[in-house]
Amino acid sequence: MATCYRKIATLVSPTEAIGELTVITDAAMVVDDGQVTWLGKDSDAPSCETEVDLTGKTVIPGFVDSHSHLVFGGERSEEFASRMNGEKYQAGGIKSTVAATRNATADELRANTAGLVQELYASGITTFEIKSGYGLDTETEKLSLEIASEFTDEVTFLGAHVVPSGSDPDQYTDLVAGEMLTSIKAKWVDVFCDKGAFSVTQARKVLTAGIAAGLKPRMHANQLSNIGAIALAVELDCASVDHCTFLDDADIELLRNSNTVATLLPGAEFSTRSAYPQGGKLMNAGVAVAIATDCNPGSSFTTSMPFCISVAVRDMGFSVDQAIWAATKGGAMALRGSQGVLEVGVKADFVVLDAPNHIYLAYRPGVAIISQTFLQGRKVYERR
Ligand SMILES: [Zn+2]
Repeated sequence: MATCYRKIATLVSPTEAIGELTVITDAAMVVDDGQVTWLGKDSDAPSCETEVDLTGKTVIPGFVDSHSHLVFGGERSEEFASRMNGEKYQAGGIKSTVAATRNATADELRANTAGLVQELYASGITTFEIKSGYGLDTETEKLSLEIASEFTDEVTFLGAHVVPSGSDPDQYTDLVAGEMLTSIKAKWVDVFCDKGAFSVTQARKVLTAGIAAGLKPRMHANQLSNIGAIALAVELDCASVDHCTFLDDADIELLRNSNTVATLLPGAEFSTRSAYPQGGKLMNAGVAVAIATDCNPGSSFTTSMPFCISVAVRDMGFSVDQAIWAATKGGAMALRGSQGVLEVGVKADFVVLDAPNHIYLAYRPGVAIISQTFLQGRKVYERR
C-alpha cells in the first residue's frame, strides 16, 4: 500500500557529483512496498491510500555509517577523563577492551551491541558496518563476527587491530592471515596500518590473504603518522581508507584517481583531542569522502551522525552540503553500496528531521532533531 509523505519543507538527496545535493522545497515522496516510487513538488504529488503530513520537516536519506566497532566488553570512561586531563592517546588502550571482551559472555556482547544499534537508528543511521578487533584470538574474533552478522551484512574482520600483549608482531600477523582468516566469516578484511600498529608489509600480508579468501579489503591508516599506507590501499583497491589525518599531496592525488574512499572519523579526533583531517580540502580536490562514527569504547564513543556532521562542519573544513553528502552517499561508496540517496527505485531508507532544512544538522549541535527513522519504509525509530 502506497504512503505519500506530503508537505515536506525540504527534501534532500546527494548527487553523483562529490559534495553536491539536490534540494527540493515544498516536496512530497511516495513509498510503496519498501521503495521510493515517486518524489517531487508537493503540488504535483499523486493521490495515495495513506497520506502523512510533514509540514515544517526535512527528509534526508538514512545515514550510512561505514565504520564502527560495536562488539566489545567493558568501557573506558576513566581513560577518557585522564586523557582530557592531559594524557596522550596511544593505540595500546585497545588492550584493556580486548581483556574485557574476552571475559564477556556471548549474551553480554550481543546485548551491548543491540543497545548501540538502537542508538544508531535514533541517530538516523540505516546502514552500518561492524568490525571485530577486540578478540585478537581466533575464538573471540569468530564470536565477535557472528554477533556482528546478526545485525548487519557489512561485517568486517579486524583481527589486525593491534598486536596483543606478549605476542610477536610477525607471528601474530601470520596467525591473522592464516588460522584466524580460515576460521571466520566476514564480508570485509581490515587492518590498522600505522605507527604502533601494523607495518605496510604486515598489512599487505593480511589484506592479500583476505582477498585470496574472498573478502574485500579496507584499511585504518594515517591516523597517527604517514608510513605509506595510502599507496597500498589504492594498489589493492580498498573500498575505503579510514582516518586519513596525515596525507601528503601525492596521497591525495592517488585517492583522487582511485575507487578508494577517504573515510573521516570526527568523533576520534574530538575524543582524543587530536588534529583534525581536512575533509573539505579533500572533497574540493575531487576525493570521495565518507564520514563515519567510528563508535568504539576508547577513542570515539558516539553513535551520533549529527554530532559527527557538526564537528566536520565546524572543524574539518566541510561545507554543510559536503558533510551530509559524506555521511550518506560517501558512506555508501565506502561500502561499495548504492544506499544514501533518495530517488525513484531505491529502498526507502530515510530520516525525518524536526527542522525546516538540512542545515540544522550542523546548526543545532547536540540537539535531538532526528524525529523518525525508516528502514525500507518501516519505521524503526520515533522520538518520544
Ligand atoms: Zn576504527
